[in-house]
Amino acid sequence: MKEKTLITGFPRMGENRELKKALEDYWSGKTGIDELQKISSELRKKHWMIQKDNGISLISCNDFSFYDSMLDTAVMINAVPERFRDSKNKTDMYFSMAHGDANSAAMEMTKWFNTNYHYIVPELDDSIEFKADASKIVSEYREALSVGIHPKINIIGPITFLALSKTDDGSDPLKYIDKVTEVYCSILRELSALDETVFIQFDEPVFVRDLPEEYFERLREVYLKFSAVSDNIRIIFTTYFEHSCEAVKALADVPLWGLGLDFVHGKKNIDALKYAQNKIIIAGVVDGRNIWINDFNKSIRLLKEIAAHTGMDRILVSTCCSLLHVPFSSVNEPDSRIKDWFSFAVEKTAEVSLLGRVFHSPEVNESDSRNLVENAMINELMKSSEFRTDASVQEGINEAVKSEREGGFTERQTIQRKKFNLPVLPLTTIGSFPQTPELRKTRRDFRMKNISSAEYESAVKNYIDDCIAFQEEAGLDVFVHGEPERTDMVEYFGEMLKGFHFTKNGWVQSYGSRCVKPPVIYGDVSRPEPMTVKWISYAQGKTKKIVKGMLTGPVTILNWSFVRDDKTRAEVSKQIALALRDEIDDLQKAGISIIQVDEAAFKEGYPLRRENIPAYEEMAVSDFKLACSRAEKDTQIHTHMCYSNFNDIMPVIDSMDADVITIETARSGNKLLKVFRDYGYKKDVGPGVYDIHSARIPDVEEIEKQIRLRMEVLPAGQLWVNPDCGLKTRKWDEVKPALENMVKAVEKIRMDLK
Ligand code: GLN
Ligand code: ZN
Repeated sequence: MKEKTLITGFPRMGENRELKKALEDYWSGKTGIDELQKISSELRKKHWMIQKDNGISLISCNDFSFYDSMLDTAVMINAVPERFRDSKNKTDMYFSMAHGDANSAAMEMTKWFNTNYHYIVPELDDSIEFKADASKIVSEYREALSVGIHPKINIIGPITFLALSKTDDGSDPLKYIDKVTEVYCSILRELSALDETVFIQFDEPVFVRDLPEEYFERLREVYLKFSAVSDNIRIIFTTYFEHSCEAVKALADVPLWGLGLDFVHGKKNIDALKYAQNKIIIAGVVDGRNIWINDFNKSIRLLKEIAAHTGMDRILVSTCCSLLHVPFSSVNEPDSRIKDWFSFAVEKTAEVSLLGRVFHSPEVNESDSRNLVENAMINELMKSSEFRTDASVQEGINEAVKSEREGGFTERQTIQRKKFNLPVLPLTTIGSFPQTPELRKTRRDFRMKNISSAEYESAVKNYIDDCIAFQEEAGLDVFVHGEPERTDMVEYFGEMLKGFHFTKNGWVQSYGSRCVKPPVIYGDVSRPEPMTVKWISYAQGKTKKIVKGMLTGPVTILNWSFVRDDKTRAEVSKQIALALRDEIDDLQKAGISIIQVDEAAFKEGYPLRRENIPAYEEMAVSDFKLACSRAEKDTQIHTHMCYSNFNDIMPVIDSMDADVITIETARSGNKLLKVFRDYGYKKDVGPGVYDIHSARIPDVEEIEKQIRLRMEVLPAGQLWVNPDCGLKTRKWDEVKPALENMVKAVEKIRMDLK
């Protein structure tokens, strides 16, 4: 076999986020489609050449997208919702589907498995006429040929596509599998004509979940059909983020060319190799989800372990998933103590290449042996570097045996009710107020040292003054300071905590043209000084009402960062929890009596496999509780979670022991709240009464209706009234009337309750 290496997929944004800029210029009308096409083509070629120069055998095409690959797949099979069908042209239709237009709402977006990448959720119904459109793939393939590359074609597999879709009537989208398979087969026929041999990688990550038996039956049927389409097609069935043993077994007698398996996040895949005796194994050993350099010795050991089941010559070395989830290159990062430890997409490509050579050739060339030595040295350093270990953090962890708060909930509730004396249906918000352009500029100016810290401080304080004054006027009960000092709920804390690093250019696509720059947790986490006390105390000093302290919880910080992998996530989470525990203590000592610990990412952090859930829950709950463990009985702990399905996790939510939980419910009505009632939840709940994702201003009647609906589910005495989530993405013109209406609605209801 001449193929040695494969890259599952490459990021498309470009070294300096060129695609972002090109897209945004196109959307704003600054440039035309030709310019966007030209820049995209240059990016694709550049990214292919990086892989080619590294000697990668199988380089992807169709991993590029203007917006998202699920959306591309929908277009490929003509799964276009009716409201977009009469668009002027294909490009307009595509972007309208992605972010809506004057007449039609955008399609929904949701997170891709357990990553922070969002895909567009396909909408299926019987009016769709599934038919093939392989034009995007064909043109990218030809483009690759023009630069001397015979690429493999990446396509999201039909079962994953359907499993992640929604139907108009809530029925199982798999009902469309026959029609969709037919369309895929005709696409395969068309693609088979492109080259002498055509490699097609079907991404089927849905098979890393626990699935009902039916899925495996469909899996066999579909891939048997695919494998019969044409002799010159080499099919690679790829999964990632976990093991997919059941799928490998189901495919045992289906004649596919290769299986792409994640051996970084799915060690159990080794157990499935006995069912893959007739297939090439694309061994994902280079981590596509994290930014640390590979440990070559470890990877070679792993490859040998795999080879013990398959034989050496049936192995291709690969990334464990697409490199979409890591930044472009670490070369341009400023020098730092940890720069050598980084490996982003470009560096990971070189790692795959080197591992392929070293693993497959009997002799190692000079430069590779130098690299191997250097790699071993860096890995050794990473393990032993003093600056990433902090003995006092370790001591803190050893001492922190107590994670239970004083007093049970009922006792705390009595004490808190007496102390706060809040009216029924207390009114509050989730934390942030609008992040105005001026505010962003203030923070930027401060960062660039264009303004002094005194100037910065007074600008932030002015903003807090305005927030407090507004809440006073509007008549809310529990106030917030508005979070003007925070760009982001994780970044802010990362910058204040030890053990975090911020990259200069470590952008990762989040959705469409939007990129995020996750913090890097490289060392033991500790809190050199209080992080929020100054701002919250300032706000509290301006009012007689209670101002909530506002923190981000351990699991959310963990989920939205790149985390060191020399320690378990549970250890890192515990360190964060301890830092937060001290912060909560300082806040209450400063007279703050209500403290909110946001766990926006609590639910999305759940493992993909049931077998890993207990450990996750144990970590998430115990560290949340550890963070809150010093809260006095008369300090009220709130938590907030963004849109989550609580069905299976009520006992877990309950065991977090927060006095109040605020959740996002406006779009789903009472559905989520009923779960709390059915479970018999006794603590306070603040179900969101209006959607903050849209600019629409809800009127008094609408909010009143929402609240009354909530009161049908839980007694008024257990309910708080608040918007769905933070208000930072909204404008003051929207926020002010919306909150005023919320207050009026509650006042009306309170009158009736008297
Ligand atoms: N306190 C944060 C805010 O209001 C919570 C954000 C979130 O849940 N995503 O912005
Ligand atoms: Zn939220």
